[in-house]
Amino acid sequence: MKPTIKTSRRDFIRTGSLGAGALVLGSALSSLACTKADKRLGIALVGLGGYSGGQLAPALQHTKNCYLAGIVTGTPAKAEDWSKKYNIPQKNIYNYQTFDDIANNKDIDIVYVVLPVSMHKEYTIRAAKAGKHVICEKPMALNAIECGEMIDACKKADRLLSIGYRLHFEPHTQEVMRLGQKQVFGKVTKVETGNGFTYNGDPNAWRLKKALAGGGGLMDMGIYAIQGARYTLGQEPVAVKATQEKTRPELFKDVDETVFWELQFPGGAKVTGKSSYNNDWGYLRAQAEKGNFELEPAYGYGGLDGKINDKPMQIPNIRQQTAQMDDFATCVNLKKQSRVPGEEGLKDMKVIDAIYRSLDSGKWEKI
Ligand code: NAD
Repeated sequence: MKPTIKTSRRDFIRTGSLGAGALVLGSALSSLACTKADKRLGIALVGLGGYSGGQLAPALQHTKNCYLAGIVTGTPAKAEDWSKKYNIPQKNIYNYQTFDDIANNKDIDIVYVVLPVSMHKEYTIRAAKAGKHVICEKPMALNAIECGEMIDACKKADRLLSIGYRLHFEPHTQEVMRLGQKQVFGKVTKVETGNGFTYNGDPNAWRLKKALAGGGGLMDMGIYAIQGARYTLGQEPVAVKATQEKTRPELFKDVDETVFWELQFPGGAKVTGKSSYNNDWGYLRAQAEKGNFELEPAYGYGGLDGKINDKPMQIPNIRQQTAQMDDFATCVNLKKQSRVPGEEGLKDMKVIDAIYRSLDSGKWEKI
């Protein structure tokens, strides 16, 4: 099943080079980011589904610091197709049984886990034990406990771990981080954000099974809205209260459909968010003491757009995943932590865990 994020995918083709202005905007927030690479690193994608095939492999055709060196798939026909399409040698193709042999493959430096959420922990830990650096897709794992185990395993193996948070490399998002965190218009007093799409896919897909996905729209889409509030304010929330709604309970038997939440931040900003598998949302609106700014689309990879004090942002779009993977390769070469390490994934999972607790208790829950 390939979900369609309608608000964000329609103008995906509208990519362009990152303008000098945008680079300057981003740099203020990128002090931890790496700038130089010396070796072109090999990436192996694990799980050749919609995101790997539709976004990551094409993005890897444009990377400078890394390239698509290998694949891990349980489907022999996919192995053959990908091998031909991307010129991947047989010795760099693995299945889930032979995966650990990747330890002996010098062509592969980084393993990118692009599997259903319930498999993220296992493959991240196996990759680190095989001596590979890891990028793991969002949401990082089923819950915060698993995230902690993944972080520990990568530390123990002395490998870098990064989460597929492509927006941290995206110039509109970097501008929102700058405006909010540097308090360009004074303190941000209010953030309203939502992310979702109308699920019309396979009713038996892993995304609708709690054991495989951990949850529904909140895990898959809400995570962006939670991040959005966190990076706009540059603070961590301390408590949350959430409610939910189901209009198609027969489809969303096992997972949440639409979730609404209010987050308490130490600075006192009023922050509301929502996620859905039944609404096409993708916006972030921030009100500050002396101005406002917003993004819509705010979270997709089909091109973001936004306004500052009601005027267009006029920032070019980039290939987010290309920038994200190139940056991680540079981090590996420089042995520097990514700006989106496992700890960043853990922070979001703590909020998500608390939202699910609040849905159960009907009360405010500490994060
Ligand atoms: P998908 O269903 O299209 O692909 C999943 C892949 O996992 C398939 O190739 C499937 O064969 C494989 N797989 C292996 N074992 C499986 C099992 N037991 N059950 C089901 N599939 C199994 O999913 P996707 O959309 O590619 O999502 C994969 C990951 O990427 C998820 O974590 C998702 O949240 C993430 N993702 C991230 C973004 C982003 O913008 N960062 C976008 C889409 C997906």
